[in-house]
Amino acid sequence: MSDSTPPSDRRWEPGETAVLRYITRDGRPGMSWPFTVVQDSEELLALYIPKGATYKRFMPRPASQLAERGHAMELRDTEWRRDVLRLMYPGAHHSIWVFWEHEAGERRHTAYYVNMEEPFRRTAIGFDTNDHTLDIVVTPELEWRWKDEEELAERVELGVFPADFADFVRAEGERVIERIEAREAPFSDGWGDWSPDPGWAEPSLPDEWATEPVRLWSRRVWAYGDIARG
Ligand SMILES: [Mg+2]
Repeated sequence: MSDSTPPSDRRWEPGETAVLRYITRDGRPGMSWPFTVVQDSEELLALYIPKGATYKRFMPRPASQLAERGHAMELRDTEWRRDVLRLMYPGAHHSIWVFWEHEAGERRHTAYYVNMEEPFRRTAIGFDTNDHTLDIVVTPELEWRWKDEEELAERVELGVFPADFADFVRAEGERVIERIEAREAPFSDGWGDWSPDPGWAEPSLPDEWATEPVRLWSRRVWAYGDIARG
């Protein structure tokens, strides 16, 4: 579909708004978020979204519209529910999120979250990736547990994902677990104490989230099968 779209060489300054998109398995812009760029360097892309920002989320389409619109899900404006710093590594099949919650006027680091996903690609408006279902929830004390293992297994059973792709996703998570248990970076870097520049405005999603050509993952046909052929 868009393999001919040239990769963007745009680099980002701290404080700029970049769009992160999940590209659906059939190659369309899906869930999309406005993030404030914290760092864009060779080894790390760090993006921040505060609680309260508006993003696009897939929601069931009302039954009355199904006949005319085809897809059972539609993207709707939704309020993001917590402060998240997304640490992304060029070429990696996961990102590591740092969560904070607000309680009684206090902002507190409550968890890390390891999200298995496609390696990100640069676009003119931000970054494209897609979620790979399996996650790991990690406490600030670095106790971890898998999340959505059953959902990944179910997707294999239903033929949504081939078994070897699910094994690949799990192996990616196992390598991150080794780093958690060894208390390696970024889990030892004190990201929980990080806070955003108070001068940053809440990021909002530009209309181009829907129109900017998608940048597809080079291994999507292996991972997703016929639906990815377009
Ligand atoms: Mg996930």
